Amino acid sequence: MLAIPEVVGPNAIVSALLYTLSVLVLCDGLLRRSGKQLSWSEYAAGIFLIVGGIAYFFYVDRQLITRIYLLNFGFGLICLATSWRLRSLRLGRTAERILFWILLSFSLHFFPRTILTVGVAAPAANEFASSPFWLALQFSLAVLGAALALALLQVAASDTIEDLRRERSLDPLTGLLNRRGFDEIAGEHLHVSRTWPVSLIVIDIDHFKKVNDSFGHPAGDTVLTTFSRSLLTTARHVDVCGRLGGEEFLLLLPNCDAMGARTIAERLRTKVRLTSFKDLPRDWRVTVSIGIAEARRGEALSDLIARADEALYEAKRAGRDRVRLYREVVASV
Ligand code: GH3
Ligand code: MG
Ligand code: MG
Repeated sequence: MLAIPEVVGPNAIVSALLYTLSVLVLCDGLLRRSGKQLSWSEYAAGIFLIVGGIAYFFYVDRQLITRIYLLNFGFGLICLATSWRLRSLRLGRTAERILFWILLSFSLHFFPRTILTVGVAAPAANEFASSPFWLALQFSLAVLGAALALALLQVAASDTIEDLRRERSLDPLTGLLNRRGFDEIAGEHLHVSRTWPVSLIVIDIDHFKKVNDSFGHPAGDTVLTTFSRSLLTTARHVDVCGRLGGEEFLLLLPNCDAMGARTIAERLRTKVRLTSFKDLPRDWRVTVSIGIAEARRGEALSDLIARADEALYEAKRAGRDRVRLYREVVASV
């Protein structure tokens, strides 16, 4: 458009190069958002085939119509390949589904538009700027290009919100849910009848202060992260693991009564006893005390936690390194 360079041949090649690069960079950006990317060889192949083809069909075998098809079908194919690699987005969040379908429409539109507006005869060079092909190209790129840009903007905004939401709910040291995240998810389980019975396990590491005092705070952190991994591997995939704070952890067990919870708690207790922690002497045994309570119908999560906590303190009083169940005290007067 700016006639830089002024001569037609080099101008066509520079334009084709810029066009091709913009399509490749767009697709690379879309892929990188999903943890993938275009390799250098894919960049090189795209540029070589399209820009090389434009040069060939200008200097060697001058054919405007072939150049038009080469550019448009080339870009369509690059975008289609990208849509294919990102096909899992169609099952993702709303923002991702919108992005996927707009990208697919954008990819596909290169084909019918070119065929319908160019047909088999290239527009005359002097009428090119007012040809149906050129007008349709400008119009469709303006509409679909803007739609794609908006789709990218909304997916970027939704990614940021999702990151913040996740950060808000996760404990940075262990990667487990923090109290807020745990309350959100565990609270839902308590109100769904399909997951009944539900039990809660509260775990507290014994004499944890001694680890910090003897080997330093970083060693204490290592114990917390290693323990969290044991907790995650002991839990079933439906269970909800959280860090209540300090060296106290929560495990909510849907579809599990108190007896089932006790089995899981004993397994965890034994596993921790047998673990050698990095940064601690080999013979140093870390132990945990565990309290269990089975949820009552309509009970608030905080009350359930309080009852499991009571059982935990019974375990502490009884000498630590053990599991205790909350027992109903029936006051009969
Ligand atoms: P008990 O057997 O009765 O549970 O004794 P304890 O020493 O485990 O319990 P206490 O509550 O006295 O000490 C907990 C310690 O945990 C105190 C605190 O400095 C430490 N702590 C809390 N959060 C962290 C953390 O994120 N990292 C480390 N390294 N230490 C922490
Ligand atoms: Mg403790
Ligand atoms: Mg504690």
